Amino acid sequence: MIIADLLHSATKAFSNANIENPQRNAEILLSYLLDCSIGEIYLSEEIELDIEKFKCSIQQKIEGEPWAYIFNSVQFRDLELKIKKGVFIPRPETELLVEEAERIVLAAQSTSLPNNFSLLDIGTGCGNIAISLAKNFPFISVLATDISKTALKTAKLNALRYNLKNISFLYSDLFKNIPRQKFDIIVSNPPYIPSSDLKTLPEEVRREPRSALEGGEKGISFLSKIIKNASHFLKEGGYLILEIGISQDNLIKKIIVQAKLELIKIVKDYQGIPRVAIIKKG
Ligand code: SAM
Ligand code: GLN
Repeated sequence: MIIADLLHSATKAFSNANIENPQRNAEILLSYLLDCSIGEIYLSEEIELDIEKFKCSIQQKIEGEPWAYIFNSVQFRDLELKIKKGVFIPRPETELLVEEAERIVLAAQSTSLPNNFSLLDIGTGCGNIAISLAKNFPFISVLATDISKTALKTAKLNALRYNLKNISFLYSDLFKNIPRQKFDIIVSNPPYIPSSDLKTLPEEVRREPRSALEGGEKGISFLSKIIKNASHFLKEGGYLILEIGISQDNLIKKIIVQAKLELIKIVKDYQGIPRVAIIKKG
């Protein structure tokens, strides 16, 4: 089969179905099916390809299925993670949260990192945040939790894939099953979309589990519970790092003050939206 013909037919199918960036999506599909980078697609002229899989993947995408569920795979920073239906698909803005956590671990390391440095990730999903941090800092111990058994199973498989020994998993509704232990850092990207916004979400997002997205009337019900309880699970001088939704910065500021925590900063994402809150105890 000629690569140029395949690219052309996929691009045309996406374009006819009003899929955004039809050519880019055709390239993404071929790079996955050929197991090569997008640049490498253009290096060969003829290839062997499972044409049924090619057609079926195009159809699934047109029907609104995200690539991550079609390929059962997702990229997060330098990680290639397994993903399946029923598990939230990591977003690029969450990489900012990981960077902020890394800065804090590095700062602690440059002074004197206690040998029992620990981190809790609430609502780990496929494990993207927890695995990134456990992999980059083998000397810290990471506890990753979720209320979804499918998510926990997927996250465990991903941790196994990277052969990580410093991460453990726990089924828990927020702090419910967390041992009475104090952490140096708590991170979370909880569900934060206001309930009334759910029906306006794009089809691809609506294919993700509602329980990973819906954050109650104003979207901050999980954020609020986490902020109110964090103090019991944080060491003195420990940090709480949260991903937040659009216009939720002012809402959470009040709760942070009530919880007697200190807001250090809110980092904006690539679109200029306040996205990651860094909060300190003591
Ligand atoms: N941490 C991943 C990330 O950043 O890409 C997934 C974030 S996803 C937006 C929210 C996650 O929180 C989902 O995996 C969902 O199952 C989990 N979750 C929802 N309610 C929860 C609860 N009450 N306790 C713990 N986890 C919860
Ligand atoms: N950023 C996600 C979205 O816009 C929502 C993530 C969340 O609720 N934590 O679809």
